[in-house]
Amino acid sequence: MTSLWLHESAPFAQARPLPARTDVAIVGGGIAGIATALHLANAGLDVTVLEQRTVASRASGRNDGQLLLGLGEHYHRIHGQFGAVKARVLWDFLKSNHAALRAAIAEHGIDCGLHTDGGLRLAETPHEWHELQTAAALLTEERRPHRLVTAAELAQWLPAGRGFHGALHLLGEAIVQPVQMVRGLATAAARAGASIVEGADVVSLRGDAGAFTVALRDGRSLDAAIVVHCTSTLARELDPSGLLARTVFPFRGQIIATEPLPAAVLAGFPPYAMSSNFCYEYFRVADGRFVLGGKRWSVPGEQLGILDDDGHHPQITTNLLAWVHDHFPSLAAVPFPHLWTGIMAGTPDGLPLVGALPGAPGQFALCAFNGYGLSFAFLAGRCLAEVISGETAPHPALPLFAPRRFAE
Ligand SMILES: Cc1cc2nc3c(=O)[nH]c(=O)nc-3n(C[C@H](O)[C@H](O)[C@H](O)COP(=O)(O)OP(=O)(O)OC[C@H]3O[C@@H](n4cnc5c(N)ncnc54)[C@H](O)[C@@H]3O)c2cc1C
Repeated sequence: MTSLWLHESAPFAQARPLPARTDVAIVGGGIAGIATALHLANAGLDVTVLEQRTVASRASGRNDGQLLLGLGEHYHRIHGQFGAVKARVLWDFLKSNHAALRAAIAEHGIDCGLHTDGGLRLAETPHEWHELQTAAALLTEERRPHRLVTAAELAQWLPAGRGFHGALHLLGEAIVQPVQMVRGLATAAARAGASIVEGADVVSLRGDAGAFTVALRDGRSLDAAIVVHCTSTLARELDPSGLLARTVFPFRGQIIATEPLPAAVLAGFPPYAMSSNFCYEYFRVADGRFVLGGKRWSVPGEQLGILDDDGHHPQITTNLLAWVHDHFPSLAAVPFPHLWTGIMAGTPDGLPLVGALPGAPGQFALCAFNGYGLSFAFLAGRCLAEVISGETAPHPALPLFAPRRFAE
């Protein structure tokens, strides 16, 4: 069971054979590993990505392709959770991530269906509409571009939608075809000198900083001075400090999609990054198709602890279709032939891990984006590359993401 994006995308064409040694070995070829490789290669380091399957074949190729501001929360809730100062730092970090990503997409001519019309956070209840207004008041106070859209105005903004009580339009959000974006960035990294090796299933790390041996399942190995863990929640056992195994947990998301819709139906769906119910349901159009994910909260266990992205939960599909029926009646009789799942990585505080692994000299992590990796990882990869290459003034957001916050 693969995603629509993986199904329709060309394979990564610049894969290289395994070298004997490298300065920096990056384990994992999702957006985290590829972003780090691109920035390290641009800084002139000798870098090799070891990817178990193919570039962007796991979460980075199975998501909804939304570049979001705000960790899937309305802004006042981020203020409530982290305090005003950190909330501003986080919002600015995400905004800068999108700007950097847009610049890289333009610089490298990556054809990835980028739409920069912003995002619509829709309210499913009067209570959520009240919260969106509270968030908007804070955004106004901080001069962050947005617009409140009333239920009556939504007839123009999202003509196909029904049963929404209003929305918040956030400028700066965007949508992309994620596989084409990540493979385009991988091509740019390869052109900058990175070796990206597919079919490289890492099973163990031995040695110390400056002299690691990275062993693959098929018996091959690579010597490296530095190792970066970009395996999301899929290879926590490779971290000798145990921090990743202790801290990062998996959860599974599920998505359904139509085939291209007739023009008359499509006219009701603008190219926004859209979500409702506090971002638990997320949707957009892509190449004329309607794509919808979410509802994991609607089944017991909320898909926590699941590492299998070959399977799916039939009740979630049923619940997603019922949601379509309620909110987009023009799609009520339209088939959704595409169905897939992907594994995300969470942390107890909802923030990713970016930086040195405590108690494991020479090892770094860039992972656990809590379901928002497209929104974080490009800039986070640059920040980590700066740390690895000895940049003396690290990004001010990095202390928020330091793995040592979870050290025992
Ligand atoms: C359904 C769904 C919807 C989502 N929607 C959005 C969205 O709209 N916006 C957003 O910002 N984020 C979204 N996300 C989250 C986003 O996709 C992830 O946060 C992001 O892709 C994580 O990137 P990554 O590189 O850390 O992990 P991955 O993409 O999972 O990459 C990890 C890589 O490590 C490799 N690997 C694992 N073990 C080994 C090993 N032993 N040796 C070598 N390689 C190994 C894997 O093969 C994989 O390619 C969504 C995720 C899902 C599942």
